[in-house]
Amino acid sequence: MVARVSSNNVFYSFSPEVVPAIIVDAGSIVEVETLDCFSNQIVSENQLVTEIDFSKVNPATGPIYVKNAKRGDALKVKVLDIKVNDRGIIVSIPRAGVLGDKVSRAKTKFCYIKDGYVYFNNIKIKAKPMIGVIGVAPDKPAPTGTPGRHGGNLDTKLITIGSTIYLPVYREGGLLGIGDLHAVIGDGEICVAACEVSGRVLIEVDIVKDLAPKWPIVETDEAYYILVSREDLWEAFSEATDLAVKALAHSNSLEWEDAYMLASMVVDIQVSQLVNPLKTVRARIPKDYISLEKLLEAVKAEDL
Ligand code: CA
Ligand code: ZN
Repeated sequence: MVARVSSNNVFYSFSPEVVPAIIVDAGSIVEVETLDCFSNQIVSENQLVTEIDFSKVNPATGPIYVKNAKRGDALKVKVLDIKVNDRGIIVSIPRAGVLGDKVSRAKTKFCYIKDGYVYFNNIKIKAKPMIGVIGVAPDKPAPTGTPGRHGGNLDTKLITIGSTIYLPVYREGGLLGIGDLHAVIGDGEICVAACEVSGRVLIEVDIVKDLAPKWPIVETDEAYYILVSREDLWEAFSEATDLAVKALAHSNSLEWEDAYMLASMVVDIQVSQLVNPLKTVRARIPKDYISLEKLLEAVKAEDL
């Protein structure tokens, strides 16, 4: 049986104060209906993003309370499916994005999603639906537009059908929220938005006991990714690298220097997004060199 959470249950801050929309057992499959990142306020290309109610951006649907998820556990969320609706929106905003200084005006464009493609102007782009916002309640409330150790606005294109994300549980039940789907997005999310779209996500939630990671971990078929978000990009790269080296040392019983060398040969440092209040980067470790258990042990959150 599939549990369902409708988009009538949205919140704008990951917080222990938000009352759960649903309580489910570990192992449950849940369908989550999501609004687009503008809370579906934009209904015409004549409507500028500068005119909408900005207290209502980046809604997350939930929270989902997972029974027996305790502080210090990892909440495991497997993405089984993502269905995006047929019309997406992309915007430009003066001073926003990587080239903010060059943006002379706000602009709204629709993109249309059909048969696995996104149509933008006369250009056809392969659709790759993904989840922009996914997180749990941290100790102190965090706006849904900000990424962090609890997840949040990670805007990481790898959080897609078939991948699994591991989040640290701070609060009983985890209090998972999901939103901000994109029909397609590039690394960086350069202009500050992507093909923003409402839709539905099918997930399976589970718990890994006592192995809360310090930062979110994403698992794909081939690799694990450690996602670090910081104001300073270099600090983010440096922390992601440090954790990857630690994890390789632990998993392969290597001295630190040797793990550092191994990382230099097999780890990829990549950018997720450059446009949110904190920037998100990731270290990619191929599965050939590490197991999930060793990785979670090595990057375990000491404060949880
Ligand atoms: Ca986003
Ligand atoms: Zn978005």
